Amino acid sequence: MPVSAANLGFPRIGPRRELKKAVEAYWAGKIGQDELLATARGLRAATWDRQKAAGIDVIPSNDFSFYDQVLDTSVMVGAIPEIYRVLGAADSLDVYFAMARGTRTDPQDEGCAHGHGAARDGGDVPAQEMTKWFDTNYHYMVPEVEPGQAFALNAAKPVEHFREARALGHQTRPVILGPVTFLLLAKSKAEGFDPLSLLPALLPVYADLLAKLRDAGADWVQIDEPALVLDLSDAARAAYAAAYAELAQVDGLKLMLATYFGALGDNLATALSLPVAGLHVDLVRAPEQLDAVIAGARDDLLLSLGVIDGRNIWKADLTALLDRYEAVAKARGEIQIAPSCSLLHTPIDLALETALDPEVKDWLAFAAQKLEELSVLRLGLADGRYVISDELAANADAIANRRKSPLTNNAAVRARLGQVDESWGRRALPFADRIARQQAHLGLPILPTTTIGSFPQTAEVRKARAAHGKGELDDAGYEKFLQEETARTVRWQEEIGIDVLVHGEFERNDMVQYFGEQLSGFAFTKAAWVQSYGSRCVRPPIIYGDVARPLPMTVTWWQYAQSLTSKPMKGMLTGPVTILNWSFVRDDQPRSDTCRQIALAIRDEVLNLEAAGAKVIQIDEAALREGLPLRRADWQHYLDWAVESFRISASGVAPETQIHTHMCYSEFNEIITSIGAMDADVISIETSRSKMELLDAFVDYRYPNEIGPGVYDIHSPRIPPVGEMQDLLVKAGGRLAARQLWVNPDCGLKTRKWEDVKPALVNMVEAAKGARIALA
Ligand code: GLN
Ligand code: ZN
Repeated sequence: MPVSAANLGFPRIGPRRELKKAVEAYWAGKIGQDELLATARGLRAATWDRQKAAGIDVIPSNDFSFYDQVLDTSVMVGAIPEIYRVLGAADSLDVYFAMARGTRTDPQDEGCAHGHGAARDGGDVPAQEMTKWFDTNYHYMVPEVEPGQAFALNAAKPVEHFREARALGHQTRPVILGPVTFLLLAKSKAEGFDPLSLLPALLPVYADLLAKLRDAGADWVQIDEPALVLDLSDAARAAYAAAYAELAQVDGLKLMLATYFGALGDNLATALSLPVAGLHVDLVRAPEQLDAVIAGARDDLLLSLGVIDGRNIWKADLTALLDRYEAVAKARGEIQIAPSCSLLHTPIDLALETALDPEVKDWLAFAAQKLEELSVLRLGLADGRYVISDELAANADAIANRRKSPLTNNAAVRARLGQVDESWGRRALPFADRIARQQAHLGLPILPTTTIGSFPQTAEVRKARAAHGKGELDDAGYEKFLQEETARTVRWQEEIGIDVLVHGEFERNDMVQYFGEQLSGFAFTKAAWVQSYGSRCVRPPIIYGDVARPLPMTVTWWQYAQSLTSKPMKGMLTGPVTILNWSFVRDDQPRSDTCRQIALAIRDEVLNLEAAGAKVIQIDEAALREGLPLRRADWQHYLDWAVESFRISASGVAPETQIHTHMCYSEFNEIITSIGAMDADVISIETSRSKMELLDAFVDYRYPNEIGPGVYDIHSPRIPPVGEMQDLLVKAGGRLAARQLWVNPDCGLKTRKWEDVKPALVNMVEAAKGARIALA
């Protein structure tokens, strides 16, 4: 067949998050291993059947994982640090889950307030480090290797899953993570040690694995090397050449080398020189690379064209794809078409969304629908457009409707955006003049204390929200409940002597969803879950249209909270870049335009808060850094529009009004200039675990504005003693001027319990008092 439809990976969580539920039940001791394994087998079988039914020719196996495919790879090659190895057999679930989550005792401890990225603790053995998979919101477990690392093949999972599929009648293409990307993602505790130097030791394990897959009956293996779209050193490029020369020695098996998330760019020649049978390229993120790929590809190289967006939820424009790829299919003789990357990053099935606006729903395609698109496209490319004329007509209607719908074209929003010039992103006075007025306006001590916004979302809070959602608790009852929570929290902060108070965010389910639900242009789903890490799934909002803010979103709650105290109450908002980065974003205009639209909506809210009397307004940009493009050369453009968007949202206020921002991380070295350019009056960051070392970026840069380096690690139930936090503050005071410093936790307190939060914040206030004396 000259054109085949291939899939690179399917979401493993199950259409109704069956895997999450089974894994969590297993962790809780509610089900045994046999039941967990049976659930997993059932999900795999259903996934293979679904792909077959959709008409997919090349179906993956080994894309399933109980937690994470990178962790699976560590186990597969025997990169299991000693602390886990002693816990059981290398292929046991005990060892596997210990690497994933540590042997922790507190199942509540699920990380940061927002569920995107987290650090864990607890138990005796810590989990492996976790970080974001390229530029996605999926998190992988960072492989850990050591000098002289010995590898040992544990091929059970890929081989057994291949056999399992075969027994069900599916000849699959196993997916494995390639050795070079694996080592490039790996870390070592030994300073200065380069994991890539372990390649010669690792390759025999991979060769052995490939031979085993071949012996089990595999004819193709998909080997993922997404690192090929990154900026690579010459050493890394040489590693690719060496690795694939060696793996090519395995006879009787073909390798489909999969690259995704961007253009091969300056690694194209390397990729094309590798002795593999097939190459997959991402033509959604990088359509411009098509010509160069074709020009450089050997005639017998099977090209897999990633033409369906594996990172977003929009219907593909099938006619446009045919226009573009018909000639390629003809010229190459044989091609494969595929999603741009694994469908892991998309929700499973649009059919489960019964409450979406039908007009918007008709613009969408989730994983299952993307497979159908691929299959239709394959027919059109192989047999001619006339065989798919009905599908094409329906698709063209949906595409045209979306383009001309008033939902995607709000004239008022567009006109307003047209008026935005540089002055909209500039405060009326420079920081030095603003801060003097703010100090007079606020009358705060040096080292003022505050918190990041949320207070514990207790079981009662969640229960009340759920009851209200189901209609069991009426609006008035829910409102009263929230008022009581808020009032109690405000009074308590006042009692313990916090200087700038917060209302606690009890009315908010999630820091993006809460705003998205009140903005036009956003849709929310019922079942469109995407794996974030392990058993954790998120349901990102869908930004389909022009964004407007019909009514104030937070003013009433702020007013209520402020009415209870004479201390300043912070207005609390999520920033435009964070709202953008944690959503599925429309693909019919630049992301920067969508971001500016959100910025205008937030700006209106900021101004309403100010008019209501707020003297301090915090605009959280937790996700600013994670939006950084994969290639350095693209960073500045992103940072420019991201910073501009933040500034548009923040700059409408009077000089007296103090703008705060918050970021849940501390690696600012490479972007500190842009952080400075945001020109927030105060920024709070995460620094407690690094013992303030991560403040260095701000010190070296001579950051002029005020800064609250977190002194209380909220990722842990541990209650930091007064002396410890005071020492951290004194340490910070040695690096920055005391008058620049604020005292606050690392992040919101949403995931913590009141019994931890109360003593910790009492200690924090004491620590501030001590540090004021020490630094005076
Ligand atoms: N204001 C939010 C909170 O306190 C900020 C959370 C975040 O940045 N992750 O929960
Ligand atoms: Zn945070």
